[in-house]
Amino acid sequence: MMTNNSPTNTTCKEGFPLRPCNDDLEVGNSKSNEVTNNGYFGRKYQKALLPDVRISSADERPSKSKFRVRNVSPIQVPRHKTSSTCYRILVPETNTEKLVLFVCLTVFFTLLASLVYFFVKIECIFGAKDQKCKSNWFSNNEPNICMKEECVKTAASLLSAMDPTADPCDDFYQYACGTWDKRHLIPEDKSSINTFEVLADRLQVILKGLLEESVNRLDSSATIKAKLFYKSCMNITQIRYIGDLPIRELLKSIGGWPVIETNWRPPDYSIEVLLGRLKKEFNEGIIIEPWVGPDDKNSSVNILQVRKNRQLDQMQLGLPSRDYFLKDSSAEALQAYHKYMSEVAVLLGANKSTAPFELLKIIEFEIEIANITQTETDRHDTTGTYLKLPLKDLQKQVPEFDWQLYLKTILQIKLSDQEPVVSYAMSYFKQLGYLLKKTDRRVIHNYIIWRLVQSTVLPHMIDDFQYKRLNFKKILLGILNERSRWRDCVDWTNKRLGMAVGALFIRDNFSSESKVTAMDMIQSIREAFNELLNENHWMDEQTRIVAKAKADAMKERIGYPEVLTDPDELEKEYTMLNVTENQFMLNVFNVLKFDAYQNLERLRKPVDKDKWSTEPAVVNAFYNPNKNHIVIPAGILQPLFYSQHFPKSLNYGGIGVVIGHEITHGFDDKGRQFDKNGNMIEWWDSKTIYTFREKAQCMVDQYSKYKMQEVNLHVNGRMTQGENIADNGGLKQSFRAYKKWVSKHGEEPLLPGIDMTHDQLFFLNYAQIWCGSMRPEDALTKVRSSVHSPGPTRVWGPLSNSDDFAKAYECPPGSRMNPIDKCIVW
Ligand SMILES: [Zn+2]
Repeated sequence: MMTNNSPTNTTCKEGFPLRPCNDDLEVGNSKSNEVTNNGYFGRKYQKALLPDVRISSADERPSKSKFRVRNVSPIQVPRHKTSSTCYRILVPETNTEKLVLFVCLTVFFTLLASLVYFFVKIECIFGAKDQKCKSNWFSNNEPNICMKEECVKTAASLLSAMDPTADPCDDFYQYACGTWDKRHLIPEDKSSINTFEVLADRLQVILKGLLEESVNRLDSSATIKAKLFYKSCMNITQIRYIGDLPIRELLKSIGGWPVIETNWRPPDYSIEVLLGRLKKEFNEGIIIEPWVGPDDKNSSVNILQVRKNRQLDQMQLGLPSRDYFLKDSSAEALQAYHKYMSEVAVLLGANKSTAPFELLKIIEFEIEIANITQTETDRHDTTGTYLKLPLKDLQKQVPEFDWQLYLKTILQIKLSDQEPVVSYAMSYFKQLGYLLKKTDRRVIHNYIIWRLVQSTVLPHMIDDFQYKRLNFKKILLGILNERSRWRDCVDWTNKRLGMAVGALFIRDNFSSESKVTAMDMIQSIREAFNELLNENHWMDEQTRIVAKAKADAMKERIGYPEVLTDPDELEKEYTMLNVTENQFMLNVFNVLKFDAYQNLERLRKPVDKDKWSTEPAVVNAFYNPNKNHIVIPAGILQPLFYSQHFPKSLNYGGIGVVIGHEITHGFDDKGRQFDKNGNMIEWWDSKTIYTFREKAQCMVDQYSKYKMQEVNLHVNGRMTQGENIADNGGLKQSFRAYKKWVSKHGEEPLLPGIDMTHDQLFFLNYAQIWCGSMRPEDALTKVRSSVHSPGPTRVWGPLSNSDDFAKAYECPPGSRMNPIDKCIVW
């Protein structure tokens, strides 16, 4: 039996306090209950520390034990005759011994606690998935929380869109945007509402204020023209007073609209002249879109181009896509279209009972045109559709159409037979030639004039015309009401006189600080792209080197062009444009003519790669493959994308991903066809192209499985692949760049009231860019014609392909947002 008495001598060597001594145990005085307890404790203690040593007690005394314990009576406490201090202090007798025991235990437990703390922290830094733990490492356990006004507002804004009951690993869109819809009902005059549109609406309010300001000493003649244009648009009394006179005069000047005339006779000029005039005078490329721009294969030279439509990825028919003409499911929209054109014709004087029959032939003609156009999906392969040939060869290939006459009417110069022309739609032109030949002149003329009226005149008309247009839009887009006049006027002014409006906008709405920040971010994201390029295993070395050179050569345009700050230079831009205060429709026609002139006069001039063509006051960003530059206009450098008060996690999750998206466009299915100088040449190794296509196909298949709930139709994974590749690449690059920023500058304070790490906030802000909803009619239009995936898909796709996301939200492998098989291109 052991007692709680301490040994009295200390013959055991210091330094081995846990080693038992050979001395016998002596019995001391103690109370019986203490004897038992202390003896038991002592045995347990010794056993625990010295498992290989048998402790003898009164009850068990093996002959070979090193310890000898005397018989222990209930009132005798076995006294350890060991010389170890620590043994001795376990059963203190004197006050000194008690003090020593107390000190020893205190030191022991402090050491133990420190050890536990240390291991927890090690786990936190190197092993734990808990990001919050990491972010608090340097902050003495208390998370560092930003309580500044901007932080509180930002946190509140993020929280207001979220549905915290949703599982972020199951449906991150629902988690990030689940309550956004409830706070943002689709306005009656719109077919959709989303974050971009909310920002664009806010931007419109700012522009309205600027355009309504009276002319002051800061104005140049350019900004004055913008203000006048807006004023004439808002002058409803005057517009009503003038009525439809401008349209009637317009129609008369181009040979009339057969359907509204009683005895129409074809003018004494051909269809080629009519089409050429519409381009030159109204910038309308109907049936054929002529354009002067950089030659894809020699980007420093402007060349004459003929296309089916202005943008390679946009249809230009009277309805948003060819499907509306070819699919039975769109019968209602097609009917509404026919009704609309009939009503407009009647308003302009057509016979109410015969006009619909006559215009039915227009519909039939347009169905035939839709039939000979490529599907939206097939038009993305620039290399496949590019064909440069001398004018005489184009004439040979499409003999039914007089190209020389057509182009001469547009350019006002006679071109030589050898004039190089780039065609982007040869098979379409061939079939079009045949179609024009077999179709009645009156039908063709009716159709051409209808398209001019529809796109350049009707959107600007008020009263009866506006009412008919609204009925059509109700069926096509699901909208319920016409939008405010001032919103249309702001839009048109910004679109038509973008640089002048931009000059007004940047005066008070853009700080040079955001430009510097954006530049830094672009640099860091470009570095991230290059690192990822180095890490990918599927690219051969030679292609990788050229790809890096392309990324390094990529230029950036941030905010606005310098010309906006120089009134004299800006004035020169608009010298040729005439704007008057009281003639709105005339102003519209003047601007259209001015636009056409600006484009056509580029022929024979070298490409000005420094020139901006994007208006600065827009919520969007761009990549130009011919110039190999990205454009981040001033209008997008605002919350949710960017704020100088945001933590970096939000800026990188917002504008950072946008920048990465645009950089990646240089390497998507289309951009990869252009080199660093913007020339379309094959700089990829054929095996690498094969692998790229395989990787892109993975994304095509993945996105094709997503559904647009509004119409129960699948996303077109092929048509949207370029944008999807850009979304995925942009997200990955920006996150990497963000982490680099953190490793350099340290974690920022957390946001108040929102229990999330900055890594989590990065992805949350990214997702909230895509919050929104749309009417079924609009969803149908988007799924048929848009190269962008719908909002929820832009959250599900890139995040479920991201290991960084899965880690930040601790999503278990195999969950919907963290599938085992992921698609990665860049
Ligand atoms: Zn894009």
